[in-house]
Amino acid sequence: MNTTRSESLFERSKISIPGGVNSPVRAFRSVGGVPRFIRRGEGSRVIDEDGNSYIDYVCSWGPLLLGHRFPDVIEALRGVLDIGSSFGAPTEREVELAELIREAVPSMEMVRLVNSGTEATMSALRVARGFTGRDLTIKFEGCYHGHVDSLLVKAGSGMATLAITDTVGVPAGFAATTIALPFNSISAVEEAFAKHRDQIAAVIIEPVAGNMGCVPPLPGYLQALRDITARHGALLIFDEVMTGFRVALGGAQSLYGIHPDLSTFGKVIGGGLPIAAYGGRADIMSRVAPLGPIYQAGTLSGNPMAVAAGLAMLRHLKTHPEIYAQLESRAAALCANPPAGVTVNRVGSMFTMFFTDGPVTGWDTAKKSDTARYAKYFHWMLEHGVYLAPSQFEAAFLSAAHSEEDIAHTAAAMRAFFEQ
Ligand SMILES: *Cc1c(COP(=O)(O)O)cnc(C)c1O
Repeated sequence: MNTTRSESLFERSKISIPGGVNSPVRAFRSVGGVPRFIRRGEGSRVIDEDGNSYIDYVCSWGPLLLGHRFPDVIEALRGVLDIGSSFGAPTEREVELAELIREAVPSMEMVRLVNSGTEATMSALRVARGFTGRDLTIKFEGCYHGHVDSLLVKAGSGMATLAITDTVGVPAGFAATTIALPFNSISAVEEAFAKHRDQIAAVIIEPVAGNMGCVPPLPGYLQALRDITARHGALLIFDEVMTGFRVALGGAQSLYGIHPDLSTFGKVIGGGLPIAAYGGRADIMSRVAPLGPIYQAGTLSGNPMAVAAGLAMLRHLKTHPEIYAQLESRAAALCANPPAGVTVNRVGSMFTMFFTDGPVTGWDTAKKSDTARYAKYFHWMLEHGVYLAPSQFEAAFLSAAHSEEDIAHTAAAMRAFFEQ
């Protein structure tokens, strides 16, 4: 496989951009080698600057549930080009998008649009603190909620990949407002509430963790969080930036039948454009400015391009519910019969093959994975035209554009790796 153009672009990039990338996980640091510079995407595939074509299981880290250049999204974007790229004033499409979100996710009684998942979780946390008058937050080890100062404690995603436990640059006082507990342990949460009575504003969780690799909640776990938070007057925040509109149209909360107080969405919601949302109970969201004193704003929030793409995406998902059944069966086929020494976790179209005997139920068990073996697997797959996340601790994503042939090709490459 010829990668000379990616190599030279990476060398050039490292001079101007830290690590040569605009987000750490793109740098291939934990698996080694040269990141592929992508020239274009089409359906289930990305094509790099050297002309190599790969079946893409990164899907821009989640957003591309309908694959690259989905026609409805492209057409919607073309339409906006004739109108203007930003107004800083309300538009009809924003109302339509908010209504569509409310309809798909009933707990979202009111919703604010922002520009990234990080902004959504940061804002939801501020609202939770403003509403409850409390400062502390419980998060879970291995969960990632964007690069919000106080949430970069024992975080997943690139922090897990690069073994950075607590980031430099966050004042100790901010980090001290976060209590990090093991995922899937109810007793740890009970103990924290007993110890910090009336001080905990919110519990924030990825209802299906994806940022330490895919780790589903154990039966009863999310309901227990719902009960404990309600009992203690704390808010339950579901960070559905990854799971929203992916594991089901109504997100993980519809899959598990839980009604959180606040939720955050991103990734799929924008069809590949930068947009995210937070919202939930109307009595809470009514405290946000200009209705109330909790301030949150954004110059490009509700941007017409991003809103149009998101609307096209969500409308298509709403009118084609059969997509979720197709994703389920194709992902199940891909994840069937894992070889010895490999544990597969999957919820719908997000999944991870952990190179450990398992079970993997949280960060302590995820981190037992053999990351050197994952790196070998990753490079083997890449050489065989399959583009996976360059880290053991990430979820793989299937899109509706992935065909039976894509799945068969991927499964054959996987089998060949484990046979040799
Ligand atoms: C990706 C992600 C974020 C951060 O979103 P950005 O758009 O990258 O800021 C937050 N929470 C979860 C669960 C995510 O997967």
